[in-house]
Amino acid sequence: MASLPPNFQQLKQDQLRPFLHDEISVPDELEANVLITTVDKIYNWSRRSSMWPLLFGLACCAIEMIATAASRYDLSRFGMEVMRPSPRQSDLMIVSGTVTKKMVPAIVRIYNQMAEPRYVVSMGACATGGGPFKEGYNVVSGIDKYIPVDVYVPGCPPTPEALIYGLMKMHEKVDRQSVVSVPWYQKDSSQFVPVPRLGPDVFDPRQVELIKDTTLKAASNGAAAAGNGSGGGAAAEARGPVELSDKAKARMEEAKRRYREKKGLA
Ligand code: SF4
Repeated sequence: MASLPPNFQQLKQDQLRPFLHDEISVPDELEANVLITTVDKIYNWSRRSSMWPLLFGLACCAIEMIATAASRYDLSRFGMEVMRPSPRQSDLMIVSGTVTKKMVPAIVRIYNQMAEPRYVVSMGACATGGGPFKEGYNVVSGIDKYIPVDVYVPGCPPTPEALIYGLMKMHEKVDRQSVVSVPWYQKDSSQFVPVPRLGPDVFDPRQVELIKDTTLKAASNGAAAAGNGSGGGAAAEARGPVELSDKAKARMEEAKRRYREKKGLA
């Protein structure tokens, strides 16, 4: 084993001395072993070094998330190797995959069941904005419409490297927090998120008043336009189905007659 240079201990002590507090007396033999830091640093370091992700995947992105946790990429480097099967033991929700309208209420409910502090990573184009299914009848265009997202990882699907980069950004965000100002120690700062209702179209209960106002305004505008006899889509909807012209009626009758003839019903 290579021996240390003779002046190594002296060098170490010289470097440490400027950081030692004048009023704190530290025995000489311990001087090289005393570290001074802040509560925030320790608090954040311990939280980000053992951030436990929640085990659940929604679609193809989940395969990349699983690959990230497997041996090649090895999430245990970050103290994250055990994906928790219960929201009550998890700090981090990785929304990995297409978020369907049917799934949103379950995701929000699981988020509410996670204890504070809790964080959300939106993984992939689908979770972030609907992705290739954005216009689909059954897909919501971004999970951030329902729960707060801390980090977005782009891609379809994002590679394990991209997810790891997103997780490191998440760690940096945790490092910037202070025990004095974090919301979970503040009075009356309930972070409960209303669970959206599954219907013909999922809506966020927090927006009920806005939805009601907008709908009533559109209906009253439509009725006013109908009363004035002016055109326009809203007015047409307010007037109900359009009356068919005589020509169109004659064409329909002719078509019916031909159909009856063909089927031998005439
Ligand atoms: S972003 Fe791409 S890979 Fe990820 S769930 Fe959507 S379609 Fe699948």
